[in-house]
Amino acid sequence: MNSSIENLVVASGNPGKLAEFQQLLGPLGLQVQPQSDFDVNEVEETGLTFVENAILKARAAARASGLPALADDSGLAVDALAGAPGIYSARYAGDAKSGESRDSANNAKLLEALKEIPEGERTARYWCVLVYLRHADDPVPVIVQCDWRGDILAYPRGEGGFGYDPLFWVPECGMSVAELSAEEKNRLSHRGRALQALIAQLKASEKYRE
Ligand code: IMP
Repeated sequence: MNSSIENLVVASGNPGKLAEFQQLLGPLGLQVQPQSDFDVNEVEETGLTFVENAILKARAAARASGLPALADDSGLAVDALAGAPGIYSARYAGDAKSGESRDSANNAKLLEALKEIPEGERTARYWCVLVYLRHADDPVPVIVQCDWRGDILAYPRGEGGFGYDPLFWVPECGMSVAELSAEEKNRLSHRGRALQALIAQLKASEKYRE
């Protein structure tokens, strides 16, 4: 393991994500810094895929900070809706709202879109893409994509999590994601497993070889 500490900027302002990234990346000798520490311009997510948008975010953070950068992009893809809401998951029911009201508007729109779809055909996946750039012009980003399979319920269940979690049923747990503990969600989720996969790739790369 590298003994020196290296700073890394995370292209997110979400304190929960920053803490999770620090917890898992710290043992690799990486010190996570939020992009709010730097003058990072708001990125327009013009990509049509999670990976394109994650690259745009990571590149902007690396450019502004002069540091290696990590960005994530995530969302829900429902099979019966040809992968929607996909990259538009956060703003599925419109742009204006934020927080809980945005989540409940998104969930209401999803239930409406699936109202004719019977149980058994309501399969969906959460996706998380992580992109690590060594510097803004890195031609070989480290990219991981992880999914989490489940079914969309007809009614919300549970109080935990955020976003679509009350509607996302995890068959192997017999619960919605909103009914799982935070620890269990981190262990099973698209984001938690993507981070583990990224760490494995960083460890395998020359710079972070143990
Ligand atoms: P972001 O990548 O954090 O911007 O997330 C994009 C959107 O995807 C969120 O606003 C949620 O609507 C949805 N999403 C992504 N991951 C999750 C999750 O773990 N639970 C619930 N919703 C999620």
